[in-house]
Amino acid sequence: MRTRTAFMLLLPLLLSFGAACGTGSGGAEPAADGKLEVVAGFYPLAEAASRVGGDRAVVTNVTPAGTEPHDLELTTRQVDAVERASIVLFLGEGFQPELEKLAARADGVAVDLLEGQELLEAGEEGHGHGDEEEHEEEAGDDEHGSPADPHVWLDPQRMRGIVERILATFVEVDGDAAAEYRANAEEYLEELAALDQDMEQGLANCERDAIVTSHDAFGYLAARYGFTQEAIAGLSPESEPDPRRLAELADEVEAEGISTIFYETLVSPEIAETLAREAKVTTAVLNPLEGLTDEELAAGETYASVMRQNLAALREALGCS
Ligand code: ZN
Repeated sequence: MRTRTAFMLLLPLLLSFGAACGTGSGGAEPAADGKLEVVAGFYPLAEAASRVGGDRAVVTNVTPAGTEPHDLELTTRQVDAVERASIVLFLGEGFQPELEKLAARADGVAVDLLEGQELLEAGEEGHGHGDEEEHEEEAGDDEHGSPADPHVWLDPQRMRGIVERILATFVEVDGDAAAEYRANAEEYLEELAALDQDMEQGLANCERDAIVTSHDAFGYLAARYGFTQEAIAGLSPESEPDPRRLAELADEVEAEGISTIFYETLVSPEIAETLAREAKVTTAVLNPLEGLTDEELAAGETYASVMRQNLAALREALGCS
């Protein structure tokens, strides 16, 4: 028993030694040849880390392509990767509780990118119709367990803040390459600033100011550019709406002249389609960027390119000139 315990304690050390020397085998990722090993909780953080790290970092996204990241369960290989990474980037507040817990005891530097941000509460944007307490109660009942809205990455300005924090972390962990990381980050930050400007201009003059979405993901985006969202489901796409909520939304769609029910790429459009039929309006895709599919990745889609598709869809739905 004692030998076994000692070995188990030693194992992570052996693994990280192996990886640092470029001879690691059986781990989650190929040997990193002296590169910085970074684990990111889901796509937007992985893209930001790859852009800042450039050639000097190997970034592992623990959320598989084409799946949504809420309440992610980690495989044994991913647990290994988190434990031996130099940097672990995640969002706290119960977005991915398993990763959050594991990150707390990781050897490397673990950064909760929600920390220090002013967060919206669930349904804070757009649920201003009298019975919001009831919905918040329901949202609190699901396994999410937290009323804070984690979807900060959908606001390009907050995304810039995330990139700046990732840069600071890279510089702290690998100061020798600070100049390179800074140059990489600057290029990426400029792209995000241009995106922000285009969204600001593109959504400045619109006929309508409300949209309906599948899950409560667009509060920060809506708050930034001055419209409201009504979500069919709660903070997680897995939370189920009740029939009463759907009937209520159908009424609101009519009363507010909402043109479009948005659904998203990684979850079934069925409920959105039912509501759209009932309310006699159209459906369209609004991508919460919780992950890209293999096809999207192969086509070279990025955070900014998908956000520009979102901008086009929003301009159409809101009737912007
Ligand atoms: Zn979400």
